Amino acid sequence: MKTPIYLDYQATTPVDARVLEVMLPYFTEHFGNAASRNHPFGWKAEEAVDTARDEVAKLIGASAKEVVFTSGSTEAINLALKGAVEMYGASDHGKIKGRHIITSLVEHKAVLDTCKHLETRGCEVTYLTPDSTGRVSVEQVAEAMREDTLVVALIWGNNEIGTINPIREIGALCHEKNVLFFVDGTQACGKIPVDVYEDNIDLMCLSAHKLYGPKGVGALFVRRRKPRVRLVSQIDGGGHERGMRSGTLNVTSLVGFGEACRLCRVNLTEEIAHATGLRDRLEARIRASLDEVHLNGNAEHLLPGCLNLSFAYVEGESLLMGINNELAVSSGSACTSASLEPSHVLRAMGVGDELAHSSIRFGIGRNTTEEEVDYAADRIIETVVRLRELSPLYEMALEGIDLSSVEWAGH
Ligand SMILES: *Cc1c(COP(=O)(O)O)cnc(C)c1O
Repeated sequence: MKTPIYLDYQATTPVDARVLEVMLPYFTEHFGNAASRNHPFGWKAEEAVDTARDEVAKLIGASAKEVVFTSGSTEAINLALKGAVEMYGASDHGKIKGRHIITSLVEHKAVLDTCKHLETRGCEVTYLTPDSTGRVSVEQVAEAMREDTLVVALIWGNNEIGTINPIREIGALCHEKNVLFFVDGTQACGKIPVDVYEDNIDLMCLSAHKLYGPKGVGALFVRRRKPRVRLVSQIDGGGHERGMRSGTLNVTSLVGFGEACRLCRVNLTEEIAHATGLRDRLEARIRASLDEVHLNGNAEHLLPGCLNLSFAYVEGESLLMGINNELAVSSGSACTSASLEPSHVLRAMGVGDELAHSSIRFGIGRNTTEEEVDYAADRIIETVVRLRELSPLYEMALEGIDLSSVEWAGH
């Protein structure tokens, strides 16, 4: 077994060898520009892009015409939200109108920062606080809706904690109220069943590098019927992608994106079983040897390959230092850039700073093995036991002293 062990599949995934294989000829032999209409080099590239578009559409239950290729989810999020506000924000566009946005405090920064930007452009944003498992409810969304609500923007499967939101139900509510529904599907697509029509979604982003494709390509689903959604483009140029996103297509990477989506689609059931089995094994093994382990997330509504745990009475930095030569994982204190602020997601769920700092996200993926998971559990157990032996707080807790009642010197 090779170390370090990669357990950070929510951050990115390796390109699947089968994906790379279909990409390679498009770097060299088939290098044409998909927009070159006059010769076979262009036709070959266009055909490849069409195939990729079909595969992306199939994975999510859309039609090919509803797939707009972008550089990834971040760009797709910007196009969806800014593009909708510019298109519909000035009212008199029929039923969809207004400048009020509903989102949540546990979104990816790409959504939160785009909303912040839109606030400087005359939008009002309601940030819903999730429950303690990081989940937003239909009732909360219903309560936040106003006459001028334009769009509800919510994450499907949370990248930090894995919690899955009730997307289909919230989508039904949005459609009843003629409000657009944007979903950040980056962690959900390829990992759980997704069907944009069954799930009542109008706009959804996904990204190739989160599903065993290459970095730097992704897509925005833009619904074309009931309702037909229109967006103002954010990148103008040659009118590519139905005018919604200009720029020469990255044919090679799109070929990989398409193949990656196909593999996720045909193997979905097995992959869910694989990831869920390993996640449960990891959690059970850790809990069998350690007490005071807290799950950050929703045990019933959790992405298959995601496990976020906090270890009480250990210091986050020491925990990471104890394992990070061998385990590539993310921590609730370090995942947002280099700041030492605890994760905004854990904070919004009401997790205290101590537990947030000692949280670790284990991301299990296609290549993870039982052997790796067992090794990871053992390293965590070892490190936590060692750190707790040095912790006077843990000793006091073991003795049954209520720590909240202790008056600390110097406070
Ligand atoms: C990774 C991620 C993004 C950003 O995707 P990029 O394609 O890397 O821009 C957005 N949302 C979620 C939930 C993610 O996990």
